[in-house]
Amino acid sequence: MIELEKKPLVEFTAPVIEVREETPTTKTLVFDISGVDFDFYPGQYVMLKVPYPPTGEELKRAYSIASSPLQKDRLELTVKRKEGGKASVILTTQVREGDKFFIKGPYGRFYWTEGMSDRIVLMGAGSGVVPLMSILRYIRDKGLKKVKATLLVSYRSFEEIIYRDELEDLSKHSNMKIRITLTREVPEGWRGLRGRINEETVLSEVEDIPSNLYYLCGPPKFVDDMKSILLSLGVDRKQIKTERYD
Ligand SMILES: Cc1cc2nc3c(=O)[nH]c(=O)nc-3n(C[C@H](O)[C@H](O)[C@H](O)COP(=O)(O)OP(=O)(O)OC[C@H]3O[C@@H](n4cnc5c(N)ncnc54)[C@H](O)[C@@H]3O)c2cc1C
Repeated sequence: MIELEKKPLVEFTAPVIEVREETPTTKTLVFDISGVDFDFYPGQYVMLKVPYPPTGEELKRAYSIASSPLQKDRLELTVKRKEGGKASVILTTQVREGDKFFIKGPYGRFYWTEGMSDRIVLMGAGSGVVPLMSILRYIRDKGLKKVKATLLVSYRSFEEIIYRDELEDLSKHSNMKIRITLTREVPEGWRGLRGRINEETVLSEVEDIPSNLYYLCGPPKFVDDMKSILLSLGVDRKQIKTERYD
């Protein structure tokens, strides 16, 4: 694999210019970063400082970048509320346009860019879709038609599908295959997949299994289960990249 230049680590304060509801539990915060010299590879994350009024603490949390690096003046983070969580509850219920946050990044080796593989399979669960979306947006916006990307993503219910409309649009691109599975509630008329992603899903949805580069993102158990499936199907461990969200 080629060695890529590391993107410089920068820190800055940026205002929220839009708060978008993705699902009843998930919001996208859009930050104005015009004037900041910030670059990253699709799939990387930032550290965000979140003031926590009940204790006066300043929490530091990692959030994957949802937007594409081609979008230079707006940085998007998508946060899913965790019951009993501190930062995610504040970020999904209290944040308003104009609020400013301290951001530092980019971090992480979980990324894709040109020159890596032209055949990629992105597997995510819940908010694990976020860095995978950055990769898909980048491929779409840069018009990288020779890159074949397959997304296999699981959500609990139809209402909890993050980026539903945009995933539908992406599925119309001939170089992108988007497969959504619902693990708990399935509405009548649902035409997607059902249940957890398992070996059969991989066998039926992924072409030429050993030749792809894989990106797995979500809760640790999801990532570990997917990795075991891929290894048992003959994928080389060097071809599997992982990001675990606790
Ligand atoms: C590289 C990386 C990228 C990430 N990207 C994203 C992203 O794009 N989007 C996203 O939504 N998240 C992302 N995460 C997760 C994110 O960093 C936070 O962990 C998440 O938002 C929860 O933070 P919190 O402060 O709300 O929860 P915390 O307050 O840290 O609590 C975490 C969990 O522990 C439980 N808990 C807390 N205290 C206790 C206790 N005393 N006893 C038992 N249980 C307890 C809570 O109920 C909660 O479920 C990422 C994580 C990593 C490592």
